[in-house]
Amino acid sequence: MRLQTEVARGLFTPGDPVPFRVYTHRNLDQIPQLQSLSKEQRFGIRVVAQVLPFRVNQYVVDELIDWDDVPDDPIFRLVFPQREMLAPEHFTRIADLLLSGADQVTLKQTADTIHRALNPHPAGQMTRNVPRIGNEFLTGAQHKYRETLLFFPRQGQTCHSYCTFCFRWAQFVQNKELQIATREVATLHEYLQSHTEVTDLLVTGGDPMVMKSSRLAEYLRPLMDPALEHVRTIRIGTKALTFWPHRFVTDRDADHVLRLFSELVRSGKHVALMAHFEHGREIEGPIVREAVRRIRDTGVIIRTQAPVLRHINDDAAVWSSMWQTQVEMGMVPYYMFVERDTGARRYFELPLERTWEIYRDAIQRVSGLGRTARGPSMSADPGKVELQGVTDIRGERVFALRFIQARNPDWVQRPFFAQYDPRATWLDQLRPAFGEQKFFFED
Ligand SMILES: *Cc1c(COP(=O)(O)O)cnc(C)c1O
Repeated sequence: MRLQTEVARGLFTPGDPVPFRVYTHRNLDQIPQLQSLSKEQRFGIRVVAQVLPFRVNQYVVDELIDWDDVPDDPIFRLVFPQREMLAPEHFTRIADLLLSGADQVTLKQTADTIHRALNPHPAGQMTRNVPRIGNEFLTGAQHKYRETLLFFPRQGQTCHSYCTFCFRWAQFVQNKELQIATREVATLHEYLQSHTEVTDLLVTGGDPMVMKSSRLAEYLRPLMDPALEHVRTIRIGTKALTFWPHRFVTDRDADHVLRLFSELVRSGKHVALMAHFEHGREIEGPIVREAVRRIRDTGVIIRTQAPVLRHINDDAAVWSSMWQTQVEMGMVPYYMFVERDTGARRYFELPLERTWEIYRDAIQRVSGLGRTARGPSMSADPGKVELQGVTDIRGERVFALRFIQARNPDWVQRPFFAQYDPRATWLDQLRPAFGEQKFFFED
């Protein structure tokens, strides 16, 4: 991997432009490094990129991917579509269209049909969690758990690069019907004012950190109003520390965004940057370290989360070393997720038992400060369900489970049991143990 020479040469100076180029399915042939792949591999990427969202910036291509290790490189697999991410019949349909020179409209229609087969909105996102003011739906928000409102600012519904495993992939495929977003700052604040049970606002996307800081400020500054005193915590979900750490270091408004963070912290809010890291490689470079240092200087806490993914991080050593480094850098491991039942799950999913083994093995290797990560957790329709382990109870092998978070707060922290199933990858495949007909939350 090329050393981050630009950075070493002093691009830490705020305001300096950094070469920024973005590739999508339209111009991916222009990525110089791809020329080292076989023709077949390149074609595979092109086919899958017609269906699953693809976007990568120059920084990721040049600095994060180790091209000597492609196609095994974890960052390559994190952003570049792989043939096996589509079902063979879907792959063939798109491949045939490309080979026969089909037009964009036909390609898009076929891709849309495939999208609908990929469970674009898992866990009832579009229908079950949409909050209301009177008779009006507050689109662009989800209120699933009593104390936390999820908010999708309209300008934050894209990312610096896209992750191939992303469960919000449907946000990026340019099918308006599949999107969730809002531009209504006023409605958001109105909703929050009348919902004093909400202590946490979780701003998410896409990636809210693609927004200019002046935009972000429009959403966040009003939270300091005494009428929103009950909103104690502001979380910002972001992958910018991986894909564009320059956001906090050299971008023109990097200092401005950091001042906004300080201002919110000084007003008494807890501000948490919920950073996604799938692999320790993402936090090696000097520019990430500088970004983390600058963010922490504002009083913002960085918490980390990621799903466990076959082909990318299905190895306890990857997790333990990542958690250890995060702790050293002052970040707080928060969640290990199970890959959700959507999009390219066929490529990434692992038996639940395996996710638990990885979690357990990784947790055992770090000190208590690294054991703050909970998991492996499934964000399913009824709530976040953690697999606590596999055990034998009176001769029956079972999964021990609990809700970390639930639609009904009363479900949280009640242990429950499912029949052991070595192949199960998601909650909906589990059956109650001990001859029960239903799980307790299914009534
Ligand atoms: C995970 C999640 C939250 C946050 O839950 P915490 O337990 O507070 O981290 C909020 N809303 C939704 C829809 C979530 O999936």
